[in-house]
Amino acid sequence: MNTLVKRFSSKFVTQYTRWLIYVVVVSLCSTGTIALPNKTQSTHFKQPVMQLQMQNNNEPKFTKVIFNNTKTMRKFAISFHHALLEINYRSLYAIADLSINEQKKLDDLNISYQDAEEWSGRYWRFQEQLKQKNAGKQLAGIVGFECYATVEETLQQGLDLSVAYPTLSEWIDIGDSWKKDNNKGGYDLMVLKITNQYMSEEKPKLFIHSSMHAREYAPAALTLEFAHRLLEDYNTDADTRWLVDHHEIHILFHMNPDGRKIAETAVLQRKNTNENHCSTGKVGVDLNRNFAYFWNYIDDGFSSSGNECSEIFRGISAESEPETQGVSNYIRTLFADARGDLEDDAAPETTSGMHLDIHSYSELVLWPYGHSSQPSPNDSGFVALGNKLAWFNNYTPQQSFGLYPTDGTSDDVSYGELGIAALTFELGTSFFQDCSVYNNTIKPDNLKALYYSAKASAMPYLLPKGPEVSLISLNGSETGITVSQGTNINLISTLKTNQTKLSESGRTILKAEFSIDAPIWLQSSIKTEITGNDGNLTSEIETFDITIDTSNLSSGEHILYVRGYNQNQQVGVPSAVFINIGENNSPTPSLVFTCTNLSCNYDASGSSDSDGNITNYLWDFNGEETSTSISGSINFASASNKTINLTITDDSNNTAASALVITVTEPALIEESSSSGGGTINFFTIILLMLFRLKTHKK
Ligand SMILES: [Zn+2]
Repeated sequence: MNTLVKRFSSKFVTQYTRWLIYVVVVSLCSTGTIALPNKTQSTHFKQPVMQLQMQNNNEPKFTKVIFNNTKTMRKFAISFHHALLEINYRSLYAIADLSINEQKKLDDLNISYQDAEEWSGRYWRFQEQLKQKNAGKQLAGIVGFECYATVEETLQQGLDLSVAYPTLSEWIDIGDSWKKDNNKGGYDLMVLKITNQYMSEEKPKLFIHSSMHAREYAPAALTLEFAHRLLEDYNTDADTRWLVDHHEIHILFHMNPDGRKIAETAVLQRKNTNENHCSTGKVGVDLNRNFAYFWNYIDDGFSSSGNECSEIFRGISAESEPETQGVSNYIRTLFADARGDLEDDAAPETTSGMHLDIHSYSELVLWPYGHSSQPSPNDSGFVALGNKLAWFNNYTPQQSFGLYPTDGTSDDVSYGELGIAALTFELGTSFFQDCSVYNNTIKPDNLKALYYSAKASAMPYLLPKGPEVSLISLNGSETGITVSQGTNINLISTLKTNQTKLSESGRTILKAEFSIDAPIWLQSSIKTEITGNDGNLTSEIETFDITIDTSNLSSGEHILYVRGYNQNQQVGVPSAVFINIGENNSPTPSLVFTCTNLSCNYDASGSSDSDGNITNYLWDFNGEETSTSISGSINFASASNKTINLTITDDSNNTAASALVITVTEPALIEESSSSGGGTINFFTIILLMLFRLKTHKK
């Protein structure tokens, strides 16, 4: 062991041992095993008290790193992901658990830092509270973080989904965790494969794994939610339908379940739990330095480490860990090799398939290379794809080269070896992310990014260069419609080229097209241009329309696909809605009309349509005035019986009407009374005198 490594490891061991003693003493005290003595107690308690006080002053100290720009901060976040405890882009600082060598590295890079004393004290107190709350919990969610399923809950939900949707999903064992592999308990590595098994064509594949680093709570919850959406929305959402019918989506929720079990008790476990390495300190191997191809490519101690107690310990050989073996071999069975063996050999732009590795945190979307500052030979595709994904989750997109290289990461096998588009998300702002932030921001934003990934997985280097469909409206409905055969449908669709973090000039929409039933990307599908437009295609956002004749559509469900091209003839991903040909239910009008003298209020907002939406309201006020508003008010010129007609139209062009007659009166005159010497005002108010109510259905 050379002196550098010795200093490196002894620092970690010392830190960890001190911390362990501290935790043991504090937890013993808190559970009542050792009573905290007061002055009247006997002297033999003095020893632990002194030790406790000493440890309180000697807990591991974290480092506050101070920046003068966010660009350097993001590079720091990539390189020091393993050491990061907090990052605050607004206030330009990060808190990290840095070794002496890593601090020296910052000196070399002219980045300033100081002891994070106050932060450290607060942090250890918080961790201790969490550990106590989580003690003994197995199956009831993570205490304080109930939005994140435990390992057991996640595995149960994956199994339950595969049982509930047997033709759309399969629960596959792709390998073992280290503990399972060594007969010490542990877990199978389980993948939920989602695809319609009745459709047996060759399909584009998206492979996602999450929470490879055990302490990263949000990633596994996000991918589990994605699986729920794909299966539970299959019957109601047309995009979900075609994605599951014509794509394979493979999700490994927990890539490091052994480590996660430790992290569920609020310990910041990153690596797997391979006890052959640093068993009394920071145990295990960093799985994200253990992948082959670029494993230990740059032997600088920073890209990955040979020190067993380092958070970036690379393992004794490439794919030495069962978790890395399981994932690597699964990737090799999913994807064919699309790339030559040289670093500069590009995969063809038409390469199908995509690999996502979901981590937290730092709000980044990253792509290869990470072992070199040189862009990969597929950089133009990665830039287009990464910038699009980052638009959906509102993160910062960039190549995964930070302040210095990293090697042995998960994209080594998928991109490095095979040329498959491989990206990493760094979700959110914390390892133990607050549930409200996860539920309100991280989950919804990143589900959009995952849906886009699935759509783009057919040609991830090319499709992101084209536009997306942001609106499909059929007779005014954006959620699909039911019409009787032969009814004309008015299709309106909006396309956008600007849903990207890239700022480029001159990207305009060239055209939009639709197909029905046959997926629009198939050569055999009948594609019809959506010709209606304002005529000058000069914008990043264009709206097109066309009337579709449904005479040739059989009764039952159909899917309408739309996609578009930009000015460079680059096609984007499709979007779809359902068209149902069948008996359409008429809408139900609700007519409310109330008057005070000649002033009247009208309101049709209680109207409804059981199989669609109401797209038009038409009021006729006794032939004196009309309105197309849902509600409002009018003033009649004179009193009389007034006939009020309301006609509503639904998205299948089906109409229904309602009417009433109301007596409208002049305001009463002010009566003079000599006996009282004053005036009284007497108003007659007639509210809703409904003489008769007509309801007619046309069509
Ligand atoms: Zn990570």
